Amino acid sequence: MIPYYHQGNKLTFSNRIKLIKPSSTMALTSKANEMRQNGEDVIVLTVGEPDFDTPEYIKNAAKDAIDAGLTKYTSVDGTPELKKAIIEKFKRENNLSYQPDEIIVSAGCKQSIFNMLQVLIDEGDEVLIPEPYWVSYADMVVYAGGSPIMLHTSYEENFDINMSELETKISNNTKLLMINSPNNPSGKYFDSNTLESVSDILQRYHENIYISSDDIYEHIHWHQEEFHNIVNVCPDLKERTIVLNGVSKAYSMTGWRIGYAAGSADIIKKMKTLQSQSTSCASSISQAAACAALTFECKELPQMKAQYKKRHDFVVSQLNQIEGVLCKETDGTFYVFPSFKEYITNSDLSDDNDLAMKLLNEAKVAVVPGSAFGMDGHVRLSIAVDIKSLEDAMTRIKSVLS
Ligand code: GLU
Repeated sequence: MIPYYHQGNKLTFSNRIKLIKPSSTMALTSKANEMRQNGEDVIVLTVGEPDFDTPEYIKNAAKDAIDAGLTKYTSVDGTPELKKAIIEKFKRENNLSYQPDEIIVSAGCKQSIFNMLQVLIDEGDEVLIPEPYWVSYADMVVYAGGSPIMLHTSYEENFDINMSELETKISNNTKLLMINSPNNPSGKYFDSNTLESVSDILQRYHENIYISSDDIYEHIHWHQEEFHNIVNVCPDLKERTIVLNGVSKAYSMTGWRIGYAAGSADIIKKMKTLQSQSTSCASSISQAAACAALTFECKELPQMKAQYKKRHDFVVSQLNQIEGVLCKETDGTFYVFPSFKEYITNSDLSDDNDLAMKLLNEAKVAVVPGSAFGMDGHVRLSIAVDIKSLEDAMTRIKSVLS
């Protein structure tokens, strides 16, 4: 006999999972790839994934790891070798000093961000996020029980953070400020002056607010100022800042899934507890590959960066030729984030979602609508594809929109 509480049609999901939606970057990329599999000639400018092969010395390190039998679980927080390479990377490239218990390796920077939010955020906590923001930030905050509080920026004001808005949006419930620079999707780099103003506010009255610094596009950066994060600008904030990074973007290693976080030992220990109860550890083979990536000189890196810049210059100039479209030069990343506001207003399209659908169906070019990043009227185009595909994409977009 079935107990009464197991009778009836009551197979349900958690309330938590109902609060979030699939990642737009991932969903739109699957849709575009599906169209390609069905024989449609779609140019995919959705996902931010370098088109270059992973450099040979990194692939060889993975092959060596397999041959050496490094195919078992590693420590939850990463192999000692990789953690050492990360610590040295921080010293060499960022002038930051960390101890091994202040570092954790995860399955991608995305998992480090997710774990950090699960460790820091409670129901009712508020998380400040400048717009536009990477698609997953807001949903990850919601999934952790928190409320994302957006800091409005605009194309017209160069995506700058408004410091008085930051001050007014800080409340007793504010727990964390999430910074991503260079920013996905706008390509904006928050320079030292901006970070100093943010630090001033946080230091003056707000001792209990954490900061996360997502530096994943650190190496794809062409702003005149050398890359700085908020800890470089204000070392006093180090204790409450979690620096997030990974090898996916710089070393063309998206599928290897290696990211890492650096922060105070207390936070890292809690992130380790969570990871021990979820994924156990990142792939042992990928960790060996990431260790090589960070330890040896990557000659391909400046070449890849030069290619991104060349593609950026081309795409920006092409988009600016379309009436009603404005495209700013970025400071880095492999995205451009043009404003189509005027174009949309003068057309029969209702918004950026409509525009993205039109580009997909008529131009066969897949892009991500700006509203997925919290900014209507824009679309994000990834330029991490070869120049020939970008030339074709621009020809198609111009012909459909003119
Ligand atoms: N971060 C990349 C993007 O924004 C990869 C996809 C994702 O995880 O969102 O396209």
